[in-house]
Amino acid sequence: MDEFEIIRRYFERAVSDDSIRVGIGDDGAVLRPDPGRDLITVIDTLVSGVHFPPSLSPADIGYRSVAVNLSDIAAMAGRPRWMVLALTLSDSDPAWLAGFSSGLFAAAQEFDLALVGGDTTSGQETAISIQIIGDVEIDQALVRSGANSGDAIYVTGTPGDASAGLAVLQSGTPRNSDVDYLVKRFARPNARVDLGQAIAEHASAAIDLSDGLFTDIEKLLRASAVSGLIELSEVPLSAQLIKLMDEDDALRFALGGGDDYELCFTSQAGAEVFQEIADQHDVPITCIGQVNESADSGDALLCTRNGNEYEYHHDGYRHFH
Ligand code: ADP
Ligand code: MG
Repeated sequence: MDEFEIIRRYFERAVSDDSIRVGIGDDGAVLRPDPGRDLITVIDTLVSGVHFPPSLSPADIGYRSVAVNLSDIAAMAGRPRWMVLALTLSDSDPAWLAGFSSGLFAAAQEFDLALVGGDTTSGQETAISIQIIGDVEIDQALVRSGANSGDAIYVTGTPGDASAGLAVLQSGTPRNSDVDYLVKRFARPNARVDLGQAIAEHASAAIDLSDGLFTDIEKLLRASAVSGLIELSEVPLSAQLIKLMDEDDALRFALGGGDDYELCFTSQAGAEVFQEIADQHDVPITCIGQVNESADSGDALLCTRNGNEYEYHHDGYRHFH
């Protein structure tokens, strides 16, 4: 199967969308943005063996590749619109391609996202780069740099599940429904797109959690030139995570594990505003700390556990050391 056959069989699907003037099949896609909207563009690459175990099902790989990008769009309060896919394949296995494509289009359909182009090449490792273009009302994108001293720090969902799920996959832990839940949190991240749009008018800054709660909050605080404090006993842990390990280990996954694709944001608005949004979307939103004036010391983020100072050391995931 050559690349043209691969594109035709697995990726070219009829779309009727007025915004797509030219889609797959020409040298480039021609897209027409809605008037009065800013565009948001994000890209993420997933390399087999680095970002997912090669044994992950091809459908999950496809879904996840889209979801991690949607999460970035969500963090900026964007609406996903179009995507392009650069695919590097070590071989052209029809079963893998069929599974991958079904997972990719499942996510695309769920979030009203159209595949409008891409590139298909062969290489030593399977690698998937997806770029999503989204939009947002002019000047309404949520950014990392808007947090103010006095804001509360909120997190959606239950961090730690996905990285525990990955650990489970890698260690071959015997499966039961709790373990399956954690694995699913890794394999099929819930991009918080609707939630991102719902919190936008109340939030001062936001980031999505890809590298670990601690590191990602630090990034938000640094971008905003402020410091912050989180109380670890407030970090929401799933029942499934706590069943599988003691609270210290669960916290370690939550703070440093990464791959959560939850949102973390800051706001002046009262907690009841977010309780209502949480109820509407059926996703917990939990206040875990507060933003303070910029710190003189190097630490942007401090932790307490049950009120006592807690020294946390972790750099989050880094590709290059
Ligand atoms: P070019 O050589 O001009 O870069 P290609 O022959 O590589 O174009 O691609 C043909 C068409 O198929 C283009 O419209 C391109 O965007 C699209 N395409 C290539 N690979 C993919 C893919 N994996 N998914 C979706 N569209 C793709
Ligand atoms: Mg060309």
